[in-house]
Amino acid sequence: MRARLLLAAALVAASSSAGAQAPSTIGLQRDPRIAAALGDISPARLRALDSALVAFGTRHTMSDTLSSTRGIGAARRWIHAQLTRASTDCGGCLRIEFDTGSAVVGRSPERPTVRLVNVVAWLPGRDTSRVVVIGGHYDSCICSTNAMDFTADAPGADDDGSGTVAVMELARVTAKHFPRGFDASIAFVLYTGEEQGLLGSTQFAERLAREGRTVTAAFTDDIVGNVVADDGRMDSTSVRVFAVDSLAVGGGELARYVWATGALYQPQFEVLPVLRLDRLGRGGDHRPFVDRGIPGLRFTERLENYKRQHLPTDSLADVNFGYVARVARLNLATVASLAAAPARPERTGYARDRASGGQAFTIRWSPVANAAGYELLVRRTTAPTYTRVVAAGNVTEFLLDEQLDDVWVGVRAVGADGHRSLTTVVGAPGGPRLQNPQPRGAAPAPARPPAAP
Ligand SMILES: [Zn+2]
Repeated sequence: MRARLLLAAALVAASSSAGAQAPSTIGLQRDPRIAAALGDISPARLRALDSALVAFGTRHTMSDTLSSTRGIGAARRWIHAQLTRASTDCGGCLRIEFDTGSAVVGRSPERPTVRLVNVVAWLPGRDTSRVVVIGGHYDSCICSTNAMDFTADAPGADDDGSGTVAVMELARVTAKHFPRGFDASIAFVLYTGEEQGLLGSTQFAERLAREGRTVTAAFTDDIVGNVVADDGRMDSTSVRVFAVDSLAVGGGELARYVWATGALYQPQFEVLPVLRLDRLGRGGDHRPFVDRGIPGLRFTERLENYKRQHLPTDSLADVNFGYVARVARLNLATVASLAAAPARPERTGYARDRASGGQAFTIRWSPVANAAGYELLVRRTTAPTYTRVVAAGNVTEFLLDEQLDDVWVGVRAVGADGHRSLTTVVGAPGGPRLQNPQPRGAAPAPARPPAAP
């Protein structure tokens, strides 16, 4: 036990520079294969893809499905064909499918039933029961004028043509560089029905639950191409990530992971974590996953232009594809790192260490398949991210020289090739618990009152 304490003292400082808001890489390690793949994300290709999407006129969920040139049916068949071509280029490494169903549009007074067709490209992993999901919605609307107008042009070049093409390009480049996949499977999903109330993503989240799959994380790219706000303000060097900082679910842990991954692979492009589900009064395709207790996160441009959203003016000319490419590179680095890593420990427990007078804690966690070791991460409860990384070795119990009352501690698994899982927060209210370990040392004997003379 003493040896463990000494090991704990040999800590790794994770802060990359001074200042509470400085981006920290929290001990993640750069994988040169992932870094090499990022260079293949092509702004020109993203532009060509979005241009083709916009040319379908409208991609309203209830628009024409028979035409080969106009409407959502033509759009999804084209997306399917593009992904199939990417799969052919990697020797058939992707599985492309239409994920079909139907739902009632509760938002419309007529409550119509709509057919929902998501397009999914699967990159199977060694463990097909574990999935990292990244999506964007290919449906569009002119909801600011008339949410149920399914015939007029609704270009949706930014909302969400930008996210759709980012995910398509991500699927192509990931498949090209990693045709044999990772530890977890990746689902690249193009959702429909987002503008009618997250219908396509709800269908997909329900399906994964029905199939008994474990979703490591669910990301959505939604509105990721505008760099000029209504008032002329510009920002092409940062992106927002929206996630609820629920310690039990781990949305904040996911945001910290993306933040660190960005600092590691693309430090000139700033990740701005916003620890709330979404912008005020808005929603996105990460939500159906978050509602099911899965860490979910939304990527969205730093500055939105409200004169174009959900309007016929959401045109290709106003999308900055160099910016979309930066978002897609951040996506790729994050998704590949998470899929390459083992799962995170499911449950944790803790016990106050009596031998240290209660100043240290024994931390315990459930073992993870394929983990080569584990790390404990420490941050003050007021700190935005972790500032200390402690290598615990390949054990499932560790004596940590921290006063657990005063800090948050996360446990993560480390794979043989150095990829780190998400962290599971120890003692998170409402989080899954292990039976707490037996406290070390005997309880101090109660003080005896002095004997009467
Ligand atoms: Zn959208």
